[in-house]
Amino acid sequence: MVQAERVSKRFGHVEVLKGLDLEVARREVLCVIGPSGSGKSTFLRCVNHLEQIDSGRLWVDGELVGYRQKGDRIYELKESEIAAQRRDIGMVFQRFNLFPHMTATQNVMEAPCRVKGLSRRESERQAREQLERVGLAHKADNYPVQLSGGQQQRVAIARALAMEPKLMLFDEPTSALDPELVGEVLDVMKQLALDGMTMIVVTHEMGFAREVGDTLVFMDDGAVVESGPPTEVIAHPQHERTQSFLSKVL
Ligand code: ADP
Ligand code: MG
Repeated sequence: MVQAERVSKRFGHVEVLKGLDLEVARREVLCVIGPSGSGKSTFLRCVNHLEQIDSGRLWVDGELVGYRQKGDRIYELKESEIAAQRRDIGMVFQRFNLFPHMTATQNVMEAPCRVKGLSRRESERQAREQLERVGLAHKADNYPVQLSGGQQQRVAIARALAMEPKLMLFDEPTSALDPELVGEVLDVMKQLALDGMTMIVVTHEMGFAREVGDTLVFMDDGAVVESGPPTEVIAHPQHERTQSFLSKVL
């Protein structure tokens, strides 16, 4: 579903991704850990077309992200083609970024209604279904201020799911939450994984990585240092940098 080959990304003179290689199979849950500033968010942003890579290749579901290959030549996609690629990717951020003047339902139906052109009636029906999926049917008509952080993040997940993505990206989805609210969000993500969603999850919730992740990647300094089955990487990290990082988060 995702393949990164020697992906590099610079901001000015600073190289943030330095030849990153990584693969995510369909239905796989890939968890990513690594120190602050190692390029985790930048990588997700590249996958989701929020940043353009400088070199290397990045594919999502067999298509080059932002480009089309014809024989030996590579063309940049037009805005409308990029929008079409983005539509299939859901992203959930640390900050939930719900529209404050809209109810939970309105937040969830906004994109399907506007981008997919579904009728209000149909998008509202689907929105309520997605809210039920994240356990928030009873909060459908509440505004974000009336919801806890955990509930807001679950609405954000429902909002991403409403576009029926084939890939979900999570960027530290629980790190802004009070500790007692983390579990409800992780439970929703776990259910999503059980439903077969392909997911890349940047998280330092090692319990989640161990239980739900198929693969755990340790990133440092813009590259993958080590990856493998989570239990292996956690119990027997091969690299000194992984050992040192794990000793701080476990
Ligand atoms: P992580 O998510 O692993 O903490 P990031 O991908 O957010 O790391 O950032 C990696 C590096 O790139 C950091 O040094 C950060 O300051 C830098 N960076 C991220 N975004 C930008 C940007 N838009 N402009 C300049 N530097 C950036
Ligand atoms: Mg980050």
